[in-house]
Amino acid sequence: MAREYFSQKRILVTGGAGFLGSHLIDRLIAAGHDVLCVDNLFTGAKRNIEHLLSHPRFEFMRHDVCFPLFVEVDAIYNLACPASPVHYQYDPVQTTKVSVHGAINMLGLAKRLRCPILQASTSEVYGDPTQHPQTESYWGNVNPIGLRSCYDEGKRCAETLFFDYHRQHGLEIKVARIFNTYGPRMHPADGRVVSNFIMQALRGEDITIFGEGSQTRSFCYVDDLVDGLIRLMESREGFTGPVNIGNPVEFTIRELAELVVEMTGARSKLVQRPLPSDDPTQRKPDITLARSELGWEPAVALRDGLEKTIAYFRGLLN
Ligand code: NAD
Ligand code: UDP
Repeated sequence: MAREYFSQKRILVTGGAGFLGSHLIDRLIAAGHDVLCVDNLFTGAKRNIEHLLSHPRFEFMRHDVCFPLFVEVDAIYNLACPASPVHYQYDPVQTTKVSVHGAINMLGLAKRLRCPILQASTSEVYGDPTQHPQTESYWGNVNPIGLRSCYDEGKRCAETLFFDYHRQHGLEIKVARIFNTYGPRMHPADGRVVSNFIMQALRGEDITIFGEGSQTRSFCYVDDLVDGLIRLMESREGFTGPVNIGNPVEFTIRELAELVVEMTGARSKLVQRPLPSDDPTQRKPDITLARSELGWEPAVALRDGLEKTIAYFRGLLN
């Protein structure tokens, strides 16, 4: 009983009303923790957390992390930031602000509380990679002035801040480089490839392949991703990462489109649209470090994850 009491923590999840944050909170609540969800609902939605609103160990606070936050918690997961290219390019200045000012505010909070803090970083720190698959030691190939830079450079600067707080103030940090993740509660209009293709297929619309469709991505199901984040937060003291968290099975975008059409039974045609600028041509994580340090690797195959995701989007349309 006493052990249970002490292993229960008060955990702050910023961006907790978003896609990944809401799944993370479900897992933390199920594990017996007390969760404070901080979100300004820019891309997140109350419907992602509505099943938790009356839970005694859950609390929601509408707040923008670009401003300081004064709360008492034992650990912080910093996820607040729009994640889809359409959303983060909508207000690029705000995207850099949330990445950088948000990180400074949450790091300042962690410093005052002397508590561990995890950063949701991204495979975008590798830009359009010239090394394949990407290992954590690769420094990346990022355009600093392009349309994706607000996100890529914002997240890179956030990583710098995390490591400087670690070196300068001895803060316990954990940096996860998250690769493309999909699943239920993705925003149906966020423009990401999995949500786009499924929504287009379910509506019988054309499937929009940007460019030739030969560019690759590696898709991780949300349950696997959340498992990786929790393992990272609970990893040995001194293990900071950065660590790649993603599924190493690589697909071309055309293969994904064909799979979605087959699985939905849609009559949609595949049509080509111009490739957005700086769109990475290939992406696949090397997860050797996650395997050895966290004992983690994804368990859900793309077909199985897509089945659940398609069912979720079907539910939204009915
Ligand atoms: P999402 O857009 O669904 O969630 C982001 C959440 O942050 C939203 O609820 C949004 O309202 C909130 N938010 C945005 N600006 C805020 C602010 N200023 N103050 C407070 N809250 C704010 O995206 P997601 O896919 O759940 O991504 C979560 C995190 O994981 C992001 O930091 C993203 O960069 C990172 N990430 C995600 C992926 C992926 O494939 N899903 C890949 C790499 C990195
Ligand atoms: N993409 C596509 N059609 C769409 C949406 C995206 O072909 O309707 C492509 C996009 O150009 C990119 C890949 O799918 O090459 C993944 O895009 P997404 O926006 O999901 O994430 P990214 O990995 O680029 O951040």
